[in-house]
Amino acid sequence: MDNQEKFRDSIGTLDEEGKRSWVYPKKPIGVFYKYRKYVSYFLLLFLFAAPFIKINGNQFLLFNILERKFNIFGFPFWPQDFYLFVIAMLIGVVFIALFTVAFGRIFCGWICPQTIFMEMVFRRIEYAIEGDRGKQIRLDKAPWNKDKILKKGTKWIIFAIISFLIANVFLAYLISSDELFKYITNGPSSHLGTFIPLLIFTGVFYFIFAWFREQVCIIACPYGRLQGALLDKKSIVVAYDHKRGEREEGRQRFRKNQDRAAEGVGDCIDCSQCVHVCPTGIDIRNGTQLECVNCTACIDACDSIMESVDLPKGLIRYASEENIEKKSKFKFTPRLKGYTAVLVILTGLLVGLLLIRSDVEAKVLRLPGQLYEQKENGNISNVFTYKLLNKTNTLMDSIHFKLASMPGEIKMVKKEYFTIEKGGMQKGTFFIEIDPSHLNDSKNKIEVEVYSKGRIIDRATTNFMGPRTFR
Ligand code: SF4
Ligand code: SF4
Repeated sequence: MDNQEKFRDSIGTLDEEGKRSWVYPKKPIGVFYKYRKYVSYFLLLFLFAAPFIKINGNQFLLFNILERKFNIFGFPFWPQDFYLFVIAMLIGVVFIALFTVAFGRIFCGWICPQTIFMEMVFRRIEYAIEGDRGKQIRLDKAPWNKDKILKKGTKWIIFAIISFLIANVFLAYLISSDELFKYITNGPSSHLGTFIPLLIFTGVFYFIFAWFREQVCIIACPYGRLQGALLDKKSIVVAYDHKRGEREEGRQRFRKNQDRAAEGVGDCIDCSQCVHVCPTGIDIRNGTQLECVNCTACIDACDSIMESVDLPKGLIRYASEENIEKKSKFKFTPRLKGYTAVLVILTGLLVGLLLIRSDVEAKVLRLPGQLYEQKENGNISNVFTYKLLNKTNTLMDSIHFKLASMPGEIKMVKKEYFTIEKGGMQKGTFFIEIDPSHLNDSKNKIEVEVYSKGRIIDRATTNFMGPRTFR
């Protein structure tokens, strides 16, 4: 193997003996970090607030797998809506694949909860308590004196509290915020079956953010593992412009008043700032690597160095391998436009499916084995069974049926108006009578509308049988 490619034989956070080499990333400062902070504030707020927001009495987001109750954006979903989950999963897989092929690991750097919690919550607490990279290295090397015990102890206690909070919020997503409040009010001893898993999850979060850290992205994350298969030369990634950074003579330290381009010297002044800020401990100048989570910290670091030595920014930037090879600027190419259009269509499709999903599922079927009956007044009568499922978390009352497709009458076997409990089901039987002059065939398609308090809530189609002579 090419010696220059040797770094690919091992991961950046292991030393030659295979031991963990602890990463002390320097605190990033710059435009991208500023915007990543804004995005993280929004996402953290959303994550912590979503299980406590209610829409029409429904928790905004709920994933109660055990009781098979799901709320998405305040809409309750039932096992009967499972097809929507299957479609959403299929769309999700296509979306992830297309998004990654086009835009690389933007998700990892900007949206992934692991990155957000690690870089924007736990790491920032660490900077606040232990200081920046240099101070952290010195503190770790220092003997266990009062200062070290105080700093490490404070940090670990705060980490444990935040891990406990995160575990509680996740529990609210799983069992609902109402149940969580009930458990808190009753005290942990009355709900040990939930409290013990809660402590286990607290331990898992603590382990991840206090110790395992970037190893999640490098070793454990399946999405990270997929990168090798999904990225190609046209994918947009955080990339080092090696053409400009190295030129013919390679990197050299900065010298004042030097015309680097004229001398064939690369613009990289070998300051290692891009390496020092990297939370996964890699050198982006080696090229795209599986450890890179596209966090943009190296872009900010290098831009600030370029500014200070009066060279153009963007030596490390969002670019494709092809952009760098051809020395072209990032362009929204037809390929990217095409992929973006497909992504927008897929998202629209899913949103559309969610919006057209009704609150009630109505099924009307002809009673098996029954044909039709001719009444004394000459009308043709068929008998039907119905099944109505109330998918909302509110009681539905004043429910009744109307024949929509042709004149006729629905005669209920029991009450004409009835109610369905929240999440409940109602079954029953009714007759439909139609004047034979309205029938065209022995088998006629009819539509039955379902109303609640005068508002139409669902429609069901079925067949109405009549004698052949009416053809
Ligand atoms: S920060 Fe920029 S100039 Fe410094 S080593 Fe990295 S690429 Fe070179
Ligand atoms: S190489 Fe740059 S973008 Fe990639 S993880 Fe390191 S700092 Fe972040």
